[in-house]
Amino acid sequence: RDRASDANFELSDLMSNADLAMYRSKARGRGSYTLFTPDMVESHKRKLQIANGIEQGLREDEFIVYYQVKVDNYGHVIGAEALIRWQHPKFGLVMPNEFIPIAEQGGKITAITQWIIKRVCIDLPDIKHWAPQNFKVSVNLSGHDLRNAQLFDYIYNTLNVYDVNPENMEFEVTESAYLENFQLSNKFFRRMSNMGCSIALDDFGTGYSSLSYLTQITIDTLKVDRQFVMELQTSERSRLVTGAIIDLAKRLSLTVCAEGIETYEQWDYLRQHGCDNVQGFMFSKPVPLKTLLSLAPFYDEKQFKS
Ligand code: C2E
Ligand code: MG
Ligand code: MG
Repeated sequence: RDRASDANFELSDLMSNADLAMYRSKARGRGSYTLFTPDMVESHKRKLQIANGIEQGLREDEFIVYYQVKVDNYGHVIGAEALIRWQHPKFGLVMPNEFIPIAEQGGKITAITQWIIKRVCIDLPDIKHWAPQNFKVSVNLSGHDLRNAQLFDYIYNTLNVYDVNPENMEFEVTESAYLENFQLSNKFFRRMSNMGCSIALDDFGTGYSSLSYLTQITIDTLKVDRQFVMELQTSERSRLVTGAIIDLAKRLSLTVCAEGIETYEQWDYLRQHGCDNVQGFMFSKPVPLKTLLSLAPFYDEKQFKS
C-alpha cells in the first residue's frame, strides 16, 4: 500500500512510473523485478534531456575532446587516446559512460563519432607539432558505427579534407563490438588498415571466452583491460593471467597496450612481461588539448619511484 502511494495514485502517473520500474527490470534481464522509487523519475528526466540535447550540443560545440597520453617502455609519449566529454548547459561535465549508451539507443552515435573524428583532425596539426614522430591519436568507435556503411567514406573524406596522414590515426573498438558484427567489422577494418590507419582491440579479456576469433581479425594492437592491471597486486594468479595475455598477443605479433596504470609497480611488472605501451592516471589523466600541449612529451621514471 505504501508502495502505491509512493508511486502516486494519479492513474497516468502510476502507469508511467510502473513503466520506469519495468525498464529497469528489462535492462537487468529476464526474471527480475524492480520496485518503483521516486528518484527514478529524476534519472529518467535527465536521460531524456541528455537524449534530446545531443543534436543541439553537437551544433553548438558543447562537446569537448580530452586526450590521455600513451607512453612506451622508456617513458616517451607515443600517442594519445581521444576521450569525449560533454559540457552540458544544465548538468555540467557529463562523462561518456553516461551519454554514449543513450546516444546509441537514440540513433545519435553516428553524429557523435563524426564530430569527434573531425575534431581530432582539426587538433592534429597542433598535436603533431608537439609530439614526436609516428605519433598516433586513437579514436573510440561504437559497435553501432560498424553497422553504418557510410562511416568508411566519412573517415576517408575527412582525413583528406584536413590533410591528415592516416598513419597518425588509430581506431579502438571493444572486443564485444567487433564480434557482434563480425563480418562487417572485418570488412571495415580491413579497409581502414589498407588506408594506413591502425586498429586496436579495446577492453580485451572482459567479453568473450573464445579466443579462436583472434586468428581471423585485422588488428594491430591489443589493449589489456584496466581490470587486469588493477588485479596485478592482488594475487600471483592474476599476474599469471595478465602475463599469459601479453604472451598470446606477442605470439600473434600484436602490439600490447595496457590501460589504467596508477602505480610504478604496475608499470614495471607490465614492462618486464613484454607489454609495449601503457596509459593511466600515473602519467596523466585525460586532459583538454591545451593542457596536453603543455605536458612534456616524455617521462623520467625516477619521478615515479618513491
Ligand atoms: P575506454 O576506451 O576503455 O577508455 C579508458 C577509460 O579509462 C577512460 O574513461 C579513461 O579516463 C579511464 N582511465 C584511463 N586511465 C585510468 C586510470 O589510471 N585509472 C582509472 N580509474 N581510469 C582510467 P572515460 O574517458 O570516462 O571513458 C569511458 C569509456 O567511454 C571509454 O572507455 C570508451 O569506451 C567510451 N568513450 C569515450 N570517448 C568515446 C568516444 O569518443 N566515442 C565512443 N564511441 N566511446 C567513447
Ligand atoms: Mg578506448
Ligand atoms: Mg578500454
